[in-house]
Amino acid sequence: MIIVTRMDIPEHELGTICERVESLGLAAHVLRGIERTVVACVGDDARLADIPLLALPGIESVTPVLRPFKLASREAAAGRPAPIRVSGVTFGGQEIPVIAGPCSVENRDMLLESARRVGSAGATMLRGGAYKPRTSPYAFQGLGAEALEYLVEARHQTGLPFVTEVMDTRQVGLIADRADMLQIGARNMQNYALLAEVGRTETPVLLKRGLAANVTELLMAAEYIMSHGNSQVVLCERGIRTFESATRNTLDVGIIPVLKRETHLPVIVDPSHAAGRADLVRPLAAAALAAGADGLIIETHPDPARALSDGDQSVPLHEFAALMDRLRPFAQAAGRTFGSRPGTERPARVAVA
Ligand code: PEP
Ligand code: MN
Repeated sequence: MIIVTRMDIPEHELGTICERVESLGLAAHVLRGIERTVVACVGDDARLADIPLLALPGIESVTPVLRPFKLASREAAAGRPAPIRVSGVTFGGQEIPVIAGPCSVENRDMLLESARRVGSAGATMLRGGAYKPRTSPYAFQGLGAEALEYLVEARHQTGLPFVTEVMDTRQVGLIADRADMLQIGARNMQNYALLAEVGRTETPVLLKRGLAANVTELLMAAEYIMSHGNSQVVLCERGIRTFESATRNTLDVGIIPVLKRETHLPVIVDPSHAAGRADLVRPLAAAALAAGADGLIIETHPDPARALSDGDQSVPLHEFAALMDRLRPFAQAAGRTFGSRPGTERPARVAVA
């Protein structure tokens, strides 16, 4: 059951609603969106049926949720999209953020150069893997904590917030203190201990769709994070496993409008991992924008032929500005614009010396 409260509900009325719900043995999750606050009641809805909830002050409407995902359901935001802010960048609004940068942070120079160039080409956030989930244990595994230092430095120099992957519950504290956004990779979409741990932080999460996960499984993974207290989740379609081998994965464009119907969470698209080839990034990104994507995450590299991971799909840095220029009309045709870069003022985070 979702209780939508009045826009200006005072804290004590919110508290009374939660107490009433909890007294019936249900959990009350308060979700504070940019536009409104709702109380998601999780548990046996039947117990609420006999209570005249609308008689409580501050309540605007009460809606039952039949889907297994409650907090992630569209109803939880009164049937509207609920934008999410990440250090000055908004996902799910009229402006479309573009996240760009290398698959892995390989060294300080390549990261700083990447940040400068994607930023000046119009990217709104930086990406860069510090801890890498590689299929082979013998492949480059990422620079770890050293890479986090470079990411913090890149943010300091360029003003670009960054997202980086967290692979293990033991890394969550370290990364959440530094990053603007935590990425849960496709391979970890159903790592429930990890989902719960990032759910206990206040850092926004980029949740990538698992290689063979369906819509409900993706939204239940989001529900794990949200049910642990963190409602700032952005979903990412990054291609799924199919019989087709011409592309690394198959971009599931159809999931974008389906997710828009099912959830209030923003949905972005990663054309790089879907395609596996740099020349396909532009058409797949254009298709994503046309289908209503709320953002893009694109891999770039100063010299893809020498990349330590995902070189084949990395757009050369010198081509990134032209890529942005060619994608802009697609965003406009979809009634959106590419987001502008946030200011250099960052919220307080640990500055790594
Ligand atoms: C990545 O973003 O570099 C990555 C490993 O993505 P995914 O989890 O989608 O494969
Ligand atoms: Mn990659």
